[in-house]
Amino acid sequence: MSRIQTTETVCPSCKEEFPFTMWEALNSSIHPEAAADLMQGKLFRLTCPHCQKEHTFAYPLLYTDMDSAVMIQLVADDQGADDFIELVSRLPDESLYFSPTNVDNYRYRIVIDPNELTEKANIFRLGLDDRVIELCKYMACAGVANSYPNVTIQRVLLSVEPPREILLFLEGGSIIKLPLPADMYSDVKNRFSYAIEAFSEGQYTIDQDWAMKVLTCRRRNHA
Ligand SMILES: [Zn+2]
Repeated sequence: MSRIQTTETVCPSCKEEFPFTMWEALNSSIHPEAAADLMQGKLFRLTCPHCQKEHTFAYPLLYTDMDSAVMIQLVADDQGADDFIELVSRLPDESLYFSPTNVDNYRYRIVIDPNELTEKANIFRLGLDDRVIELCKYMACAGVANSYPNVTIQRVLLSVEPPREILLFLEGGSIIKLPLPADMYSDVKNRFSYAIEAFSEGQYTIDQDWAMKVLTCRRRNHA
């Protein structure tokens, strides 16, 4: 299901109020156009009708992709994360969200940033495993940090548009683009399959911290 509200916001540029559509819950099967906006990173970008400036307005949103069997909750705070975990614990009784046939295969994720929501929505739509992607991203960052010890990597994301690239956003605004070859993905997936599963139980946040835990533990066990 989807839940939509019309609400008012204040433009940060001209301080005028204007209405916008806020998606508390967005189901990609029911609202494919809004889901497409989300996947292109446009859902949270609004243009002020008074001054025509574009701003990003992020807010908590529950995204469901029934075809990919995934629910991703964008949260603003710890309470939002707790509420989502509580919701998941009540499933599959909350059958409004599901076609009940595939409830056991669902993946549940919590993200704190609209860019991460867009990234994960794309990863799952492509049939990829976000845990493998986080490991690939972590390795890419480690490689760059080794070669260029003076750079500070602020954020790392998989590109939304093809070709598949890992984008490293550096302090100062520049971006390093590294290709993500299919054989790297499958190699990481096979090599770390045991550790990936071992660290997945009860995990809703699959990010770079999670990747670090998986790789650190694996290195310790193989020392
Ligand atoms: Zn304005």
